[in-house]
Amino acid sequence: MGAHYCAICRQTTFNGKGHIFGKTHQSRLRVVLLKFTEKVKEARRTLKKPQVEKFDCTQHKQTFWCYCCGCEIEKNVTDGNMTVLYGGLLEHMATPEHRKNTHKFWWDNKADPKFRDKVIVTEEETERFKVEVAKALESFVEKEDEYIKQHAEHIRAQEKHRQEVLQSLLEVCFPTMLWQYPSLWH
Ligand SMILES: [Zn+2]
Ligand SMILES: [Zn+2]
Repeated sequence: MGAHYCAICRQTTFNGKGHIFGKTHQSRLRVVLLKFTEKVKEARRTLKKPQVEKFDCTQHKQTFWCYCCGCEIEKNVTDGNMTVLYGGLLEHMATPEHRKNTHKFWWDNKADPKFRDKVIVTEEETERFKVEVAKALESFVEKEDEYIKQHAEHIRAQEKHRQEVLQSLLEVCFPTMLWQYPSLWH
């Protein structure tokens, strides 16, 4: 057995499999998996009701560390205009690679099998998610259009108000000002 880097414990060990079964590794693994499954659970809540938001570069450019694949993945999915929250994460959890890596990870780390399927998104779930995302995007666009329309009306109303104020200023105040401050004539 050579040196083995343990990503869970973030250290290099030399006793091979012994390390995996050790108390330190198993307790760290439990903490890691608890956090990991909690995050995935949060994402899974949106499977039936996808969350679509206007793209915000300070909020939506988050990544997520997948312990099973040992790589960073985009948490959300965006076209730079709209963002599907957790879209990237759910998409990743549904890939065959992730499924394969998850099985290997669980096996390699001797993790509790009852949590394994929590971090895998099935094909059925993905199909349904896609349908729901399509609906959510549609209603988001409708709302956005409505907002733009209302906003435009608001701007028009403001503009009208400004014109009216300006008009009354010209009619009432300005002549007085000119009278009071004759220097303005020049
Ligand atoms: Zn370890
Ligand atoms: Zn993965």
